Amino acid sequence: MKVLVAIKRVVDANVKIRVKSDHSDVDLANVKMAINPFCEIAVEEAIRLKEKGVASEVIAVSVGDDRCQEQLRTALALGADRALQVKTDVAVEPLGVAKLLNAIAVKEGCDLVVLGKQSIDSDNNQTGQMLAAIGNMSQGTFASEVVCEEGQISVTREVDGGLQKLALQLPAVVTTDLRLNEPRFASLPNIMKAKRKPLAVLTPDELSVDVTPRLCTLSVVSPSEREAGVIVSNVAELVEKLKTEAGVL
Ligand code: AMP
Repeated sequence: MKVLVAIKRVVDANVKIRVKSDHSDVDLANVKMAINPFCEIAVEEAIRLKEKGVASEVIAVSVGDDRCQEQLRTALALGADRALQVKTDVAVEPLGVAKLLNAIAVKEGCDLVVLGKQSIDSDNNQTGQMLAAIGNMSQGTFASEVVCEEGQISVTREVDGGLQKLALQLPAVVTTDLRLNEPRFASLPNIMKAKRKPLAVLTPDELSVDVTPRLCTLSVVSPSEREAGVIVSNVAELVEKLKTEAGVL
């Protein structure tokens, strides 16, 4: 079974975000970038499937400009067999990414596509679900456990009331939750080896997908600063403040 893993280049989770002064977007100048954390979990899960002999090949794919090759090389160093960049300078929206992933899954004959449940930059949580709909594939979102046996995948999902277990027929889309696994670190020899692994570049046109944006961002603003707290001396004072200052009682 060939496994396709989608990885997105995003601002590193430890970076404090700055907004551009014209409020057009987040300022990415000199900011450390990384693989989206949920995508790292997706890469790890795909590699574990290969190590168990379930996956025959793991293909990492990223949609973006040439800078996303850095994250693809990291995925190769972690254990992916080869990488595909869908080259575009457009910030492709989830529907466009889903269409591109579907075209690649069909072209490559992939039975399983593993994605992060969410990009931490845009917080969409849409691409996996759209891909499953477009490709008419089964879907297991927010997976906290994935077991593959005999042409079927069992996915455990963390839902509000507890755990839900689904049996998915292939082809399938799985999106990863935080507790699915703990991603490994790339070793230095594997980082060196990754430089020689194949990385092919495609364009949306070659995949016959139109990625023209449909949405327009009107403005981006930082969250308002939290005001300093006050220590009250007794419950009566707290209730008074909740009534008169906070206006919540
Ligand atoms: P989102 O729907 O934007 O929250 O993204 C969910 C998942 O879709 C991510 O964790 C990735 O696995 C995948 N994805 C989104 N955007 C891209 C992209 N530009 N390139 C590759 N994969 C992506």
